[in-house]
Amino acid sequence: MLAGNRRFVAGTPEHPNQDAARRAQLTPGQEPFAVILGCSDSRLAAEIIFDQGLGDLFVVRTAGHVLGAEVLGSVEYATSVLGCRLVVVLGHDSCGAVAAARAAVENGLPAAGFVRDVVERVTPSVLAARAAGLTEDSDIIDEHIRHTAQLLMDRSRVLSEQVETGEVAVVGLAYQLAEGSARMVTSHGVESMEGATR
Ligand SMILES: [Zn+2]
Repeated sequence: MLAGNRRFVAGTPEHPNQDAARRAQLTPGQEPFAVILGCSDSRLAAEIIFDQGLGDLFVVRTAGHVLGAEVLGSVEYATSVLGCRLVVVLGHDSCGAVAAARAAVENGLPAAGFVRDVVERVTPSVLAARAAGLTEDSDIIDEHIRHTAQLLMDRSRVLSEQVETGEVAVVGLAYQLAEGSARMVTSHGVESMEGATR
């Protein structure tokens, strides 16, 4: 995956696994090697920024990569049923959800409708970052990525057991919109991370 990101950054993507042969090969079933829980931001399209194709990534995206029961169920399905060995939390700079949570905390600006649900799920990360004296956008984004990875394992017993036994690794990546590159922020169960280098 990181090799794919390097190709994307360099402007030399191979667009692997995107032809009719791959489509036909996958008809009987899928075996994606990674599940990605990423922000829905339109600039963060997983298969494009990691230069992957059909059947490679199982992608779950919500604004601010916030997670509720549906997300947890989707991630557990990917690791337990499809056999994904790598879970990636993918955040990014200039994240609107994080900015909205900061505005809510710092200026008391509440969000309307169900956007409020998203903002409230990001708020604990913003508060934790503030408590640690972090004010830079990138530091708060990193905190939210770490928090999301930890929350995944805290809330999903299935996933935490898979990490403990070395079946699955959970990593957090921060994507830089301008550069197109992703850097590692956090990792759990690194011994089974060979998928990340694909
Ligand atoms: Zn975002």
